[in-house]
Amino acid sequence: MRVIADYDRCEGHGLCEEQAPDLFRLDDEGRLHPVYEGRDIPADLAAKATAATGVCPVAALRTQR
Ligand code: SF4
Repeated sequence: MRVIADYDRCEGHGLCEEQAPDLFRLDDEGRLHPVYEGRDIPADLAAKATAATGVCPVAALRTQR
């Protein structure tokens, strides 16, 4: 599974980082940095990835199998 981020939609709310800090980081300027950008997420983090995409208030995240 991969997480795809739409940076044009992301508003830096940080809910994804709160939900899954192993997968998402925001820098000091509120820019999103998915930890596994362009790579498969470890299987044991897949449920967290799904949960985190669900909390984004602007639907900037989606998962891809
Ligand atoms: S929750 Fe959504 S809007 Fe907020 S930082 Fe994460 S991707 Fe961006």
